[in-house]
Amino acid sequence: RTKVVIGGIPVERLSAGEWCEQLLSDWRAIGSGHGRPKVVTTANGQVVSLFATDPVYRKAVLAADHVAADGMSVVKASRWRGREAIPERVSTTDWFHDAARAASEHGLKFYMIGATEEANERAVARVREMYPKLQVVGRRNGYFKDEEIPAIAEQVAASGADVLWLAVGNPRQVVVAHRFKTLLPRVTWVRTCGGLFDFLAG
Ligand code: UDP
Repeated sequence: RTKVVIGGIPVERLSAGEWCEQLLSDWRAIGSGHGRPKVVTTANGQVVSLFATDPVYRKAVLAADHVAADGMSVVKASRWRGREAIPERVSTTDWFHDAARAASEHGLKFYMIGATEEANERAVARVREMYPKLQVVGRRNGYFKDEEIPAIAEQVAASGADVLWLAVGNPRQVVVAHRFKTLLPRVTWVRTCGGLFDFLAG
């Protein structure tokens, strides 16, 4: 089995490298007209706790196509399952760099939504500096109303983005990720990313 259930959440048993392979194969599938966009989110202690208490959030997490083990507590819990253990913690702030390198090499385009305007702008500038070959085709802050989502999705679609990095705070970001996925048939992944922009902005 490829997943292990932790606190009710089916978490993928993938290493950082395998996550990159998954992204690339999903991207190729979309490119050849066979694939469907995915919501990819993460689990850590906070997520497990919210999942237990917030039914809307629970439904959104269960509807995600993949869940990555972002927190060490989730990896440790999986070790009780012996051979079903998750191979390693894949924190978004680390894995983002793996994804950025893979995207630079293969030509996947990133769109980055989340955090305050200042943090988002600074984070994207840092990313462009670190990965000059990476195509970051759009960015915006993470403060918008549900009614604005269709207009924002139109901009994302027009940019030709392959990966939409989305950080608008939990629990809302997983629900919003599904709305974007529905509106973006050519995007490979809507990937929730929590505090990534603040982390990158430093
Ligand atoms: N955030 C956002 N829009 C919102 C709420 C939060 O862009 O409406 C951003 C916030 O600026 C931060 C990230 O989402 O960069 C994570 O926010 P927070 O720490 O509140 O959420 P958590 O870490 O608990 O998911």
